[in-house]
Amino acid sequence: MATKLCLPDGAVRGIDIQGAQTGTVTSYTAGRDGTVSVDNPQHERALREYGAFPSSLGGHTRRGFRCAGCGFGSFFKHCSRCGGTCEREN
Ligand SMILES: [Zn+2]
Repeated sequence: MATKLCLPDGAVRGIDIQGAQTGTVTSYTAGRDGTVSVDNPQHERALREYGAFPSSLGGHTRRGFRCAGCGFGSFFKHCSRCGGTCEREN
């Protein structure tokens, strides 16, 4: 079963994970909701080392910010689209 991970701030453009055994590089790029789906436990561990965390942490079903500049929905305080400041969405 795939795990949904939120990528850390600053890595929202994607993370490349190289398979330890296969040498194949898999690119994880955050979707519109700022998360990636990972079904490879080794990749999940590697992503966690980059600072990714399960999107289900804390039990919140809805968590996010809304950019005051361009209206982009983000999981982070800094808009990944325009770099503006996002405000918490209720
Ligand atoms: Zn923005």
